[in-house]
Amino acid sequence: MTDELMDFDQALEAYDPVLGFEVHVELNTATKMFDWAPNAFGDVPNTNTSPVSLGLPGVLPSVNKQAVESAIRLGLALGCDIAEVTEFSRKNYFYPDTPKNFQTSQFDKPICENGALDVELEDGTVFTVQIERAHMEDDAGKLGHHGGAGRIQGAQYSLVDYNRAGVPLIEIVTRPITGAGKRAPELARAYVAAIREIVKNLGISDARMERGNVRCDANVSLMPKGAETFGTRTETKNVNSLRSVERAVRYEIQRHAAVLAAGGSILQETRMWHEDTRSTTSGRPKSDADDYRYFPEPDLVPIVPDRAWVERLRAELPEPPAQRRKRLKEQWGYSDEEFRDVVNAGVLEEIEQTVAAGASPAVARKWWMGEIARLAKQREVEPGELGATPATVVELNGLIEDGKINDKIARKVLEHVLAGEGTPAEVVEARGLAVVSDDSALGAAVDEALAAMPEVAEKIRGGKVQAAGAVVGQVMKATRGQADAARVRELILEKLGVQG
Ligand code: ADP
Ligand code: MG
Repeated sequence: MTDELMDFDQALEAYDPVLGFEVHVELNTATKMFDWAPNAFGDVPNTNTSPVSLGLPGVLPSVNKQAVESAIRLGLALGCDIAEVTEFSRKNYFYPDTPKNFQTSQFDKPICENGALDVELEDGTVFTVQIERAHMEDDAGKLGHHGGAGRIQGAQYSLVDYNRAGVPLIEIVTRPITGAGKRAPELARAYVAAIREIVKNLGISDARMERGNVRCDANVSLMPKGAETFGTRTETKNVNSLRSVERAVRYEIQRHAAVLAAGGSILQETRMWHEDTRSTTSGRPKSDADDYRYFPEPDLVPIVPDRAWVERLRAELPEPPAQRRKRLKEQWGYSDEEFRDVVNAGVLEEIEQTVAAGASPAVARKWWMGEIARLAKQREVEPGELGATPATVVELNGLIEDGKINDKIARKVLEHVLAGEGTPAEVVEARGLAVVSDDSALGAAVDEALAAMPEVAEKIRGGKVQAAGAVVGQVMKATRGQADAARVRELILEKLGVQG
């Protein structure tokens, strides 16, 4: 069954969207949240387990201090208050990927509360998103459904992998976000991107969405324009790429609008996002009164974060990504558009390192946004993964500035460097690619070209100096682009006895 959708712009004329995000971040600690089993991705199923993460009877958990530190650092980066006393609770439910039959989470005493995050949209507009809480919990294992289309429906059997069970998670929950209007899908994407950037910058998560390190549940509701009470929300689960988050929010806005405009009502439920059909389907009904029988985890004592520790972590926070971008933009003197392109191309770091290695910001941008970006696109990799380093760029540019090679040859040299033939200087040497500016070698090539183009030579002699370009072209061709073009021009005019 396909949903009725209202045209997006039309939907926004009649309704105001309200958003809310629950983002789960998997921490990159060495071990799990409550035991010593390794926290690692991609290993043989059920090898990274322990009696605790398997929920065996009689086991006792203990809290991973590194995970608590990461949670505090994230909370501080989000401007949250760090709780004086924080404790874990049991969230009871049955599902085969959760062997304990409860998730160890936080309920009424989360570690971080009341933060805010400035989210910058593509055109520079800043939206402040209020953070209600960020709490610690453990991840579930993973079910795989086999012998069908990969879904539970139609599968012949299912397998469970508990490697992920017990991996430390932080769940960041926003307050309802109003006022985004038609920019709601864009804001959704930018918010998740900003969270990903912050956790990456803090070094607390690998932040790879394709591995599920950052997962977003997107809540959407609509209210008629001018209304003050929120409409009923749906929660689209596990939208695992930035593109999907944007599309899922857009889709739900269009779907809600169609239902409401037809006089229907929205069911409070979870929705599943399907990237293949770019649509959501109904998940399970979800009321605000779902009873998980939360109670304080009796096997773990409350945590009282030492205030001096919290203050030390605050003092040691890295520069926030947004502030860093502002500083770099000013230092480099890029225009708004140039800087935005650099950010969108994902080469900010590369340019920063290239400038640190001695190139000018303009030269660094020219390479990372130019030839390197072009080759990366051709080979379908990120520019940073192509194999060019900041040192490569600095060395290539040095060779150009010293007149050893020109731009065109530099591009050729880069390809040989990427093929593993050595540094740019080594490639130029080994392949004999240096610009020829030695008069005796160039003189012979000029003589040959003039001999082959007697009419052009005659024109130049007669004062048509611009015609020299054709002869220069001929010499460049004969020397495979390696001649010093300016010197070639001088030699032509000298030989023909005319003034440049
Ligand atoms: P749940 O039990 O559904 O996971 P949470 O409190 O963890 O509840 O998260 C609910 C999210 O939905 C929060 O980000 C909250 O701000 C947001 N939210 C609450 N009401 C609405 C609404 N009417 N429309 C959109 N988002 C909402
Ligand atoms: Mg929730």
